Amino acid sequence: MDIRFEEAAALKEKPQGPLGFGKIYTDYMYVAEYDKNKGGWWDQAIVPFGPIEMSPASMVLHYAQETFEGLKAYRTKDGTIQLFRPEMNARRFINSNERMSMPAVPEDMFVNAVRALVEKEAAWVPSGEGESLYIRPYMFATEEGVGVHPSAKYKFIIIASPSGAYYASGVNPVKIWVEDEYIRAAPGGTGFTKCGGNYAGSLKAQEKAEQAGYEQVLWLDGVNRKYVEEVGSMNVMFLIDGKVVTAPTDGTVLPGVTRNSIIHLLKDWGYEVEERHMSIDELMEAARDGKLQEAWGTGTAAVISPIGELCYKGEKHVINDFKTGDLTQKLYDTLTGIQWGELEDPYNWTQ
Ligand code: PMP
Repeated sequence: MDIRFEEAAALKEKPQGPLGFGKIYTDYMYVAEYDKNKGGWWDQAIVPFGPIEMSPASMVLHYAQETFEGLKAYRTKDGTIQLFRPEMNARRFINSNERMSMPAVPEDMFVNAVRALVEKEAAWVPSGEGESLYIRPYMFATEEGVGVHPSAKYKFIIIASPSGAYYASGVNPVKIWVEDEYIRAAPGGTGFTKCGGNYAGSLKAQEKAEQAGYEQVLWLDGVNRKYVEEVGSMNVMFLIDGKVVTAPTDGTVLPGVTRNSIIHLLKDWGYEVEERHMSIDELMEAARDGKLQEAWGTGTAAVISPIGELCYKGEKHVINDFKTGDLTQKLYDTLTGIQWGELEDPYNWTQ
């Protein structure tokens, strides 16, 4: 199926000055239509960025059949543009959709659509320090109906946003609130998917953390509130006594592309990486005993986010004197070096 193209009447001014994160959108968006009764995907187009017409009875507005992805296009020093492991996002999108009873976007259709939009919007891929084009593919149910059942119709859309570094303050340690009341995911639920509902349900704890003076929430498991899972919208890793510990991706944790890439780097550098359920008590004890050397979150938006402080039930621990640790910095430099094409890519992660 070819991708149709509709020309915009006028193009926008490119932004001058700081971009922020996810605030500015490019001239075009990609839109594909799915209808079970028309045999599946039946139209793909790149059209001017603008409002979406849909029925107020669209099923997504009532029962939240919605999934999304997030990845970036990076401009290298020689001016070319590259994507980082987009096939990983495509596969995760398939898994998310499967869990939400939504049809798959085939891997090649997903990657081709991302590439087509980025090629069209190449002039929007910024070139400043830490800047990139953030790409947001998403899909939602558009069948009219207020009865609960899987929709027969969907839209798959991709929008793109030239963005600066995720945290305005750059790679600086953040303060983390360990949440012991609200949960993000439970076994058998949707924790491993990127569905909008997971994020709606997380906002309350994020507000609570902010009110207490913390930047992000560390989620504990949904059954016992005992095991460490994720940080905000990042996976989380701890350097304890020379070994790296991170939660396994066995259903309640999102399998991050950054997480997977960092584990590759760490193993190649000779680190022992333990993917296991670590209790918050074990983590706090390691902090008390001075064995918690570094901690960081991993995600596409911020890449690596060092953790400078943890607060659990009123007990506070500062990590590495609230400074970015050496391993955290080395991971950040290596991964961003590959993503922005400043370092060689021995893993063939970029295209
Ligand atoms: N966990 C959650 C809940 C997230 O939303 C994200 C961001 N996609 C991540 C982890 C990190 O995933 P990735 O490295 O693929 O961006």
